[in-house]
Amino acid sequence: MSVGQLRARRRRLAARVSDPELTLRGVLLREGRRCSSAGCRCRRGELHGPYAYLAVYAGGSSRTIYVPSALEAAVAKRVAVTQRNEELLAEIARINLELVRRRALE
Ligand SMILES: [Zn+2]
Repeated sequence: MSVGQLRARRRRLAARVSDPELTLRGVLLREGRRCSSAGCRCRRGELHGPYAYLAVYAGGSSRTIYVPSALEAAVAKRVAVTQRNEELLAEIARINLELVRRRALE
């Protein structure tokens, strides 16, 4: 690709980046859970739920956060938008790196 083509591709990618206020990094999981009652059916493998959790990775460790069902769709949307934005930004970063190599960064 020529420098002009790279810049045009970068512009198209940047135009597709969505609202950064929606950014929510993590992986949305649905998991069954055991409760604390000794005689409960969940002790025989019939787990409660499934419930939604957001697995968040930061600083080399991960934690999961419970997502109330009323928020699950909104969280799923934000996680998907964030994933797409990060793919677009990664591609823009590759183009900018190539433009540095070509002494054509602008
Ligand atoms: Zn139980």
